[in-house]
Amino acid sequence: MATPRTDLNAVIRQCITEKETEPFINAFIKRLIYTVAKDRYSATERDYYLSAAYAVKDLLVARWTKTQQEYYHQDSKRIYYLSMEFLTGRAMGNNLINLGLYDDCKKALEEAGFDLEALMEYEPDAGLGNGGLGRLAACFMDSMATLQLPGYGYGMRYEYGIFEQKIRDGFQIELPDHWLRYENPWEIARPEFIYPVHFYGEVQQYPLGRGEFGYRWVNTDPVIAMAYDMPIPGYGNNTVNTFRLWSAKSSRDFNLEDFNRGDYMQAVEHKSESETITKVLYPEDSTMQGKELRLKQEYFFSSASLQDILRRYDKVHDSLEQLPDKVAIQLNDTHPALSVVELMRIFIDERHVPWEKAWDMTTRIFAYTNHTILPEALERWRVSLVQRLLPRHLQLVYEINRRFLDQVWIHSPGDYDKLGRMSLIEEGTEKMVRMGNLCIVGSHSVNGVSELHTDIIRKRIFKDFYEHTPEKFNAKTNGITHRRWLLLANRRLSALIKETIGDKFTTDLYELKKLIPLASDPKFQKKWREVKQANKADFANFVEKQFGQVVSPEFIFDVQVKRMHEYKRQLLNLMHVVHSYNYIRRNPKDVFVPRAIFFGGKAAPGYAMAKLIIKLITSVAHLVNNDPLTREKLHVVFLPNYSVSLAQRIFPASDLSEQISTAGTEASGTGNMKFALNGALTIGTLDGANVEIREEVGEDNIFIFGMNAQEVEELKARGYNPMEYYHKNQELKQVIDMIANGFFCPEQPDLFRPITDSLLYHGDPYCLMADFESYLACQRRVADTYTDQKTWTRMSIMNVANMGKFSTDRTIQEYVKDIWHVEPVAINMDMDTE
Ligand SMILES: *Cc1c(COP(=O)(O)O)cnc(C)c1O
Repeated sequence: MATPRTDLNAVIRQCITEKETEPFINAFIKRLIYTVAKDRYSATERDYYLSAAYAVKDLLVARWTKTQQEYYHQDSKRIYYLSMEFLTGRAMGNNLINLGLYDDCKKALEEAGFDLEALMEYEPDAGLGNGGLGRLAACFMDSMATLQLPGYGYGMRYEYGIFEQKIRDGFQIELPDHWLRYENPWEIARPEFIYPVHFYGEVQQYPLGRGEFGYRWVNTDPVIAMAYDMPIPGYGNNTVNTFRLWSAKSSRDFNLEDFNRGDYMQAVEHKSESETITKVLYPEDSTMQGKELRLKQEYFFSSASLQDILRRYDKVHDSLEQLPDKVAIQLNDTHPALSVVELMRIFIDERHVPWEKAWDMTTRIFAYTNHTILPEALERWRVSLVQRLLPRHLQLVYEINRRFLDQVWIHSPGDYDKLGRMSLIEEGTEKMVRMGNLCIVGSHSVNGVSELHTDIIRKRIFKDFYEHTPEKFNAKTNGITHRRWLLLANRRLSALIKETIGDKFTTDLYELKKLIPLASDPKFQKKWREVKQANKADFANFVEKQFGQVVSPEFIFDVQVKRMHEYKRQLLNLMHVVHSYNYIRRNPKDVFVPRAIFFGGKAAPGYAMAKLIIKLITSVAHLVNNDPLTREKLHVVFLPNYSVSLAQRIFPASDLSEQISTAGTEASGTGNMKFALNGALTIGTLDGANVEIREEVGEDNIFIFGMNAQEVEELKARGYNPMEYYHKNQELKQVIDMIANGFFCPEQPDLFRPITDSLLYHGDPYCLMADFESYLACQRRVADTYTDQKTWTRMSIMNVANMGKFSTDRTIQEYVKDIWHVEPVAINMDMDTE
């Protein structure tokens, strides 16, 4: 290999100095000319966006290289965050904020006649996730870089991210999200980092001597994993971490003989078949489907990531001895669970490590985050499918299970039921591998994502495991990065906070507590209200321009945005809307605090009930918004295509945050935190992190209603009869009857029957009927409080002031202290090493 004769680092030093001092506009123009290859006559708006993006990336690249060199020199312990989903959204604004260049860059472009925010609209969202789980992974990467931690995000480079949602005739339709159609200026292809990932084939046994046997997985069908990297800058430091995304390529691209042998057409067919592995993100959130392609994705991801992690380790170590001291792997839910088995396979079959040693290292390396307790979301794979796709892994799962159950037996001899519950294999007509159990057994840490959720894990879904190894279980309450969700999304509020308490809150969100003494200050309150009103006016303009709906910023902006799911109870919110409609029509002279109710969220394409609820929302909206008796007081909007970039517009403009899931169903929620951080008040149940939000902001500053998790459990144990509530409450009955009898859809009166049937005849599994009355009463308190603007504003300030806990900076620090045990690495750009 050629070794450069020039001192590369000296040249890099010089380039960096030039880059850092070069006026942004020059860099931007150079990129337009040399990279985008356009001039002022031929450049489109998108070309200008691309030029600006490349100019910003140039500022990141030197820091990126330096950061990676430093990790290598210090042989730092690294965190690998393995997640099949990263809902990162747009990169441009975030990168500028973290570089501290947002305002300068905006000004420089303005002077040259460009509008930064308009250019940024050309960046497609990186929608490589479904909802909260994927967004959490994205927030974690920001906090790891800001805390100067050697962290890597490993993900999948899906060609199609989460589908684009459109509303046609009130129904959701799904369009493919071809986000890579134009070039992605943020990614760098790494064709040198390619790994084969094997599928199918069979296992061969061969003698090792002394009566022992080794195993070989042969006659497989390999696919190639190729890396694409994106830079993740920290806020206000020089750290730039790596987000590595895997893309599937045909192995035959790398084996030209297939082509030369004349099997050209077959080779090309194989190519497109292999490449389907990273073609599309599965759009199910909180449900699992036993599709073969999905299992392929999971193994492809696990195998590629592990090979890369071991390659990096092997570069500087010649034994595996230190691996658990240098590598921490966090599994974001069970989707990458096969990594546990894959690491064992590599240890045993390829590196010939004895089982006990291999297993000890594996469990010291892995940690697992559970995200849900909904039974339909717990991953289980048919043994027959695993057998066909990954025969060697199935053998290893059985061996892990045999040894584990031996342990359980020692603790609880004779307890066959317990053995059955804890087994990695579920018995039955179709045997299944339980991925949750596999993750728990293969990890040294198992965490829930809020206190309540962790409690439920310990007491209910993984009770046996908790009793077996209580020390593994811990709570890590989720957070959000306030760089994106406050500094970037809400420029006005950030500016007001900065001028009031300084800018330390940007890296220490607890600093916001300094706003507490100002909560009742009339002057400060006035400025606070002005910010919210301006944000609401902006959003109203946006809604009018984008969706053609005119909404008055004088209305309460009452917002529920999140994936459409029965447990999240968008329907309960809508039942309140219908009740309000009836109330106004019955009492047209009464005072009614005007409200605009916004809904937004995607339904999984196969989730019929969630899609029908969208249709019901749009039908109710149509009626309410066009009724002369109600339209001055009530407005309903369904915001299509809820995504990170839309979310960034919504939170700053919201007054009321709807967090109304049935207690005991939402693991944490993070939307709740984004709303509160932007000064919206929460109406919610004691579910997920709402419990901790109440603790932080105080019970006077939040609207809590409904049953708590224990009451839900007790009600169901007693035998819940939703029909009782229907007959007892005339207002509730009227709402249900209107939905059932076609009031909102006269042309097809039975359309919404499945919705009311679920409530009345199928047990109302999410207890909407039971919580309805309490919800209504709470909404009346909300409206009353809103008319008292001093009280409302004080509550709003108190919410923001007490959001310190909900920065992912705090979350990540807890993972570091309790699970990862890694040290920060400061990056100095003086470039004197090497
Ligand atoms: C934060 C966020 C979510 C998660 O919202 P929850 O209310 O916690 O379910 C989902 N999607 C997007 C785009 C988000 O930004």
